[in-house]
Amino acid sequence: MIPAVLPTYNRAPLEFVKGEGSWLIEKDGRRFLDLGAGIAVNALGHAHPALVTALTEQANAVWHVSNLYRIPQQEALAQKLVDTSFADTVFFTNSGTEACELAVKMARKHFSETPPERTEIIAFEGAFHGRSSAGIAAAGSEKMTKGFGPLLPGFKHLPWGDIDAVRAAIDTRTAAIMIEPIQGEGGIRPLPEADLKALRSLADEAGILLIFDEVQCGMGRTGRLFAHEWAGIAPDIMMVAKGIGGGFPLGAVLATERAAEQMTAGTHGSTYGGNPLACAVGCAVMDHVADPSFLDGVCRKAGLLRQKLEGLVAQHPDVFEEVRGTGLMLGLKCRVPNTDVVKAAYDALLITVPAADNVVRLLPPLTITDDEIAEAVSRLETAAGHVEPAPQT
Ligand SMILES: *Cc1c(COP(=O)(O)O)cnc(C)c1O
Repeated sequence: MIPAVLPTYNRAPLEFVKGEGSWLIEKDGRRFLDLGAGIAVNALGHAHPALVTALTEQANAVWHVSNLYRIPQQEALAQKLVDTSFADTVFFTNSGTEACELAVKMARKHFSETPPERTEIIAFEGAFHGRSSAGIAAAGSEKMTKGFGPLLPGFKHLPWGDIDAVRAAIDTRTAAIMIEPIQGEGGIRPLPEADLKALRSLADEAGILLIFDEVQCGMGRTGRLFAHEWAGIAPDIMMVAKGIGGGFPLGAVLATERAAEQMTAGTHGSTYGGNPLACAVGCAVMDHVADPSFLDGVCRKAGLLRQKLEGLVAQHPDVFEEVRGTGLMLGLKCRVPNTDVVKAAYDALLITVPAADNVVRLLPPLTITDDEIAEAVSRLETAAGHVEPAPQT
């Protein structure tokens, strides 16, 4: 019999009843150190006092009014994002995949008035843009699209990071290039800075739009507010979600005035998107994460974690192959099945997240302490000692 909850997830038999900072407490009382952060969502950890205050104060004032009226919390959050990024304007969604929907719509709308009508979007193998129809069509993998056709047309899929293929693929129908600066679900695969720069140049030369999906790698995760800042370039449109709500459902599309110029009244909407509760929390998240000293702290802690992980990989070459990623968005490429490592980590009371390419993702709260980093790596060592090692070759 089908369960009451549609069984689209393979869930671990864990039930967390409380969160405190970097810790999740299971129903039976066990304390798990959380290096998953709800898949890069709990940027400020669990039950951060500033977020609890922002949420409860707003809950006592007004929860929801709809976008038929001005929403000061939404205007404040948009202004914070505009002030700290390339963007001139922001639309709020409830999730990453809704941000993908708008990014696609915006890119197409941009070219709808000026011939030639460009509708095609270049995307990449191994990408993840969420589970909406545009999101799965953009990713294109069989795993996500099989049985869901006919798919939204207009996506061209190229090998991950193949700049020559992008150059060759751009033609008079191309509207945009859509890419994650660091693939998350795809296995923590960063695009080299030179390639990000090359994509910017190619888009400029062709007069097309560059769309970055920073749903996972944005909001301070890499030690900059947005991951593309490391490359010294900016997109025209960017999708954000996950960390921006710190656990409250919230997403956003950031855009330049030029990219967004066709998005006039009536062209897009959302009942919930950017409601007072979500944006009150989003403002509190931004006040912490966009602070340069907070981001410096992320960089410093990321260095510490990375150094310890390199040691772990060196000590367990039969379990791990390498550490990869940027900032506190790190992946351990495994020689054994990554799910074995994730399970062994659960037994060591440590939460990690599997990704494609046989990678175990480490996405701790950005507020993790030095002691917690040391404790996490010690628990990973315990886990590595308990998995069946890969056969010697
Ligand atoms: C998680 C994710 C999404 C989808 O976000 P949802 O909130 O689950 O819809 C899109 N893009 C990237 C890069 C993601 O990591």
